[in-house]
Amino acid sequence: MPFCPSCKYEYESNVNKCPDCGLELVADLPHIQEKIVQNIRFIPLPDLPGRVYADMVKITLDEMGIPCYIRSDGLMDTIGVTGTGLMNKGVRIFVPEDRVDECLSIQHQMMDHI
Ligand SMILES: [Zn+2]
Repeated sequence: MPFCPSCKYEYESNVNKCPDCGLELVADLPHIQEKIVQNIRFIPLPDLPGRVYADMVKITLDEMGIPCYIRSDGLMDTIGVTGTGLMNKGVRIFVPEDRVDECLSIQHQMMDHI
């Protein structure tokens, strides 16, 4: 999947430029590739209502040194979540499987304050 090198968002493969900042998308982010090489499995946190929220959570995770990336709408079938309707909407943060509990509680806390 193409990524924006600036926003670190992942987009659908038919997108060439970041809708947000206009940068050309790159095939993959090097640091994400590294994690994949290390066999860290990334799994999604529950849907967020929008990118603003995803950004907020990501900033917190970044500060804690938890690798993560944000995926925008669509392409959920690639991880086997189809037929659920609602699950195909919104924005998700993918986090390493072994830190998902930590990330979940962070996301919950942050969403509680909104
Ligand atoms: Zn961008």
